[in-house]
Amino acid sequence: MASRCGIVLKNAREIELMRDAGRIVFGVLERMGELVVPGVSTGALNRVAEEMIAEAGGIALFKGVENPQAKFPFPAALCTSVNEELVHGVPNDRPLSEGDIVSIDCGVKLAGFCGDSARTFSVGQVSKTAGKLMEVTKASLALAIEELRPGRKWSDVATRLQAFVEDAGFSVVRDFVGHGIGEDMHEEPKVPNYWTSGQGLTDFELAPGMVLAIEPMVNIGSRYVDYADADGWAVVTRDGKYCAHYEHTIAITERGADVLTDGR
Ligand code: MG
Ligand code: MG
Repeated sequence: MASRCGIVLKNAREIELMRDAGRIVFGVLERMGELVVPGVSTGALNRVAEEMIAEAGGIALFKGVENPQAKFPFPAALCTSVNEELVHGVPNDRPLSEGDIVSIDCGVKLAGFCGDSARTFSVGQVSKTAGKLMEVTKASLALAIEELRPGRKWSDVATRLQAFVEDAGFSVVRDFVGHGIGEDMHEEPKVPNYWTSGQGLTDFELAPGMVLAIEPMVNIGSRYVDYADADGWAVVTRDGKYCAHYEHTIAITERGADVLTDGR
């Protein structure tokens, strides 16, 4: 198994297996885009996702995950995080309302390899600021993807991503970051969406065969987040303002980025 600075590199066959897992994730998120309307609950969305994943022969990656501060293992296939919830929201039976935004994160394992992707959806008509937040977060992921190429330092990509978000007037979350992915959902390296001089030792150079889950998390207000008291799962903004989350699983190739969760 080839590796580079502790990062497990994937061969062409493994990357295709990850694309197969990623295609299931893509299908689920596309379906969610059709189903997210005022009145639907995140619990109902999760039930559809669970059926789709099982039908495709996949394993829902998030189900049963434990976290030291959480009151129970994660019970669902989807993380559904509404408005001020950033990530790890547990699906429930409360109906979504016009003007809400919901971040849906889905991870699937198929034939031993993982795919992980997230998008933020608007529920009916949302405020202008919420719309801009979603647009900027999505564009920041697209910008990072364009910047990926062998030999590039991740710090360089993260610096650009952060500047793009901050120039738009928003903030980048620092307490949660992207990650390497492969046979395990979370592998080395950590993939932050920001860069400070203190992070120097954790920088890495992009190389063909690396597969990264890049996932910008962006807040309208301050960058600070906390675990919600209720269940110890949902992560919420400290100031209660809305936040957004987009994620793709992406292989680095000789030519640049190969997105494995875009349905191709
Ligand atoms: Mg994810
Ligand atoms: Mg992830």
